[in-house]
Amino acid sequence: KKSLLNWCPSCKTVLADEQAEAGVCERCKTVTEKKETFQWFFKITDYAQRLLDNLDKINWPEKIKIAQRNWIGRKEGINITYRVKVPNSLKVRNLLTSVTVFTTAPVNFGATFIVIGPEHELARKAAKTDIKVKEYIEKALKKSDIDRIAEGKEKTGVFTGLYAINHVTKKEIPIYVTDFVLGHVGTGAVQGCPGHDKRDFEFAKKFKLPIPRVIVGKDGDDSPIERIEQVVEHGMEGQFVNSEFLNGLDFEEGLQKTMDYFEEKDWGRRVITYRLRDWCISRQRYWGPPIPMIECKKCGWQPVDEKDLPVKLPYVKNFKPTGDGKSPLEKAAKSWLDTKCPKCGGKAKRETDVSDTFLDSAWYYLRYPSVNSNVEITKKWLPVDAYIGGAEHAVLHLLYSRFVWMALQDWGYLDKSLGEEPFPFLYGHGLIIKDGAKMSKSKGNIVNPDEYIDKYGADALRLYLMFIGPYDQGGDFRDTGMKGMKRFLNRVWKLVNKPISEVKEVHRLRHKTIKKLTELMSNFRFNVGIATLMEYVNGLSRHNAEDPRRKSSGEKWGADKESLRVLILLLAPFAPYTSEELWLKLGGKFSVHQQAWPKFEERLATTGFTTVVVQINGKLRAKLELDRKAAQDKAKVLVLAKANNHIKTYIKDKKIVKEIFVPGRLVSLVVK
Ligand SMILES: [Zn+2]
Ligand SMILES: [Zn+2]
Repeated sequence: KKSLLNWCPSCKTVLADEQAEAGVCERCKTVTEKKETFQWFFKITDYAQRLLDNLDKINWPEKIKIAQRNWIGRKEGINITYRVKVPNSLKVRNLLTSVTVFTTAPVNFGATFIVIGPEHELARKAAKTDIKVKEYIEKALKKSDIDRIAEGKEKTGVFTGLYAINHVTKKEIPIYVTDFVLGHVGTGAVQGCPGHDKRDFEFAKKFKLPIPRVIVGKDGDDSPIERIEQVVEHGMEGQFVNSEFLNGLDFEEGLQKTMDYFEEKDWGRRVITYRLRDWCISRQRYWGPPIPMIECKKCGWQPVDEKDLPVKLPYVKNFKPTGDGKSPLEKAAKSWLDTKCPKCGGKAKRETDVSDTFLDSAWYYLRYPSVNSNVEITKKWLPVDAYIGGAEHAVLHLLYSRFVWMALQDWGYLDKSLGEEPFPFLYGHGLIIKDGAKMSKSKGNIVNPDEYIDKYGADALRLYLMFIGPYDQGGDFRDTGMKGMKRFLNRVWKLVNKPISEVKEVHRLRHKTIKKLTELMSNFRFNVGIATLMEYVNGLSRHNAEDPRRKSSGEKWGADKESLRVLILLLAPFAPYTSEELWLKLGGKFSVHQQAWPKFEERLATTGFTTVVVQINGKLRAKLELDRKAAQDKAKVLVLAKANNHIKTYIKDKKIVKEIFVPGRLVSLVVK
């Protein structure tokens, strides 16, 4: 369809609304212009409500859900059609005799003017007989949408010379053209109720239009509205006044009653509107899939036959965008451009625009499992279990993908059993910054990973990136942090290279660590996961350092094979290279990355245990891991302490002269 579109003068192509969100090109940040051209669209608007409703069913960051909700922009309101009174002096052929406005807050006893966008048909027609209107429209259309709707700037407009009749006050109200109404959004016209809308108030002040009060707010002020602070807007508390049959009603109740009344009188119809517009997929670039459409003079636009798909990108010498609004493919060979009409077989020409790359990325995840069109494989792998992405794609890729998935499903290309959403779980990652700022070439605070890989190794860098902060928040990159990771890996390396025999007492630590890490990994808490692994390594080392048998054998530290095996398995996702090497050293089969995640026993992993130290003549000789409750029981703990194999060697053939017990913490035996 023909439409007013965002044009990036630098990329020399039209862009979708989502790619020119703030009036700047998503790719190169150039301020976009408006251009009216013929383009291909996908009717994403048909899915607006489903895209909105399903947001409640998916596990996504709230921030991204809010962005999509706002972008879809559902509004409940009413379309009110005004009769336009055309003065004889302005009678021109085909001049509209009505104008429809959309409003969510019809305080119509307070409507004193109508504003229409410069794109509005009525504005264009008024421009034909009025040079001032014409000039205003020309100027307004040069501005970006974002400038036009920006708050706080002085309101501008021009009177069209036309009046509409207010249904309830029967007064003639003037119609203005203004740039802050976007003619291509909604009905492109708005009724001005200056007493109860700040923007309307500013406009009315500027053009000296009446500002009647029809709502009294919470403060009870019923004086004439002269200052902007007196404006009681929709959403605030208030009661109707000066509105005949509505007087005394609450704000919201009165609005509903007005809508009922207008519908009854056939002056208006309740409508649900969406901010979301159709998705423009045409691009005037070379690189992209040619849009498979053919134009026949006789039959009009025809889709390329399915058997002739895909339409391959033809070779062209100059593939740079031309800037004249035409695709570089216009310069393709005649043999490619000219084709036969799929319907009548007559001469026809190919579409030369290509589709946007965002269309490809909206379904790539479907392609991975469907290479051989194997439905079972697709069913096995989809929908995506966990999708990781940045918030910058909130209304681009993440919205398009949901739409394409739904559409394909509706057409029967995707099994219904896969569910209505491609990414039921989405996790937004944070940003790693440097010196407190986002990395950018111009700021010179770029971190080049290669340098760090050369100096510390890829695993240390990888570990550090995960350790730097919570995954959904990111953190500040510091060189000192890198060194810590290198030291940690060195420690693991040394530990694994010297396995010692099984030591029973570390079971609990091991099971606890597996349990904790399993939970942390499934919640993307990688930084805490690494800290947990560090604690584990500390625990293994400390335990053995304090074990007198190790001391006597000259081994300062070490860990048993099973504990190390688990360590490597847990470390593998964080430090894949180091863990692979260590895995092979321990005699594991290639590859560590093909092993199952270690299991834990709940009984051993629960934290309902405490450590009771056992001293003999004031020296630490053993540690007992006991149930918290049991650790309070003096008799029980003493029996267990004396039964400990290690303690036995110290009390053998000796006489216990004193027993000291600190519940839950300590047993101290004095022997002779
Ligand atoms: Zn651009
Ligand atoms: Zn034809």
